[in-house]
Amino acid sequence: MAWRLGDRVEQASYGAGTIIELTDQHVVVHFDTYGRRKFAAHLAVLTASQRPEPRAPSRPNSIAPGPRATVTRTSTDPGYENSNRQTVVRLAETHGHGRGPRVYVMRCMRCGTHYGANVSDIDSRACPACMDGPPGVTF
Ligand SMILES: [Zn+2]
Repeated sequence: MAWRLGDRVEQASYGAGTIIELTDQHVVVHFDTYGRRKFAAHLAVLTASQRPEPRAPSRPNSIAPGPRATVTRTSTDPGYENSNRQTVVRLAETHGHGRGPRVYVMRCMRCGTHYGANVSDIDSRACPACMDGPPGVTF
């Protein structure tokens, strides 16, 4: 039996479906109940189905959208500037060890120094170069 794309078929385990992909090696059927299943072409046991494709379930009308989530600008967003004019540049690439607090690259808006800061320190960080801030974290 030579199948064509869009043919309605039935399969013993999955029931009725529609052929959505067809090559020499495999056949992909989108079953009405089970969704997409791929078979090796020589193993697929499919029979022609007279069952019509079910209509797409109608979308439930107007589920009232919930209150819009407020986007809070966290202190880890690049560009965030704390009260000491220290800005977040980006999350530091801490290759290898995923443990420990995340380190962010900070930049001092006063002198331009880049340094690393633990995420918990971003809000209170002072520049290690031109202020009396603690030395930067290695990143
Ligand atoms: Zn500085």
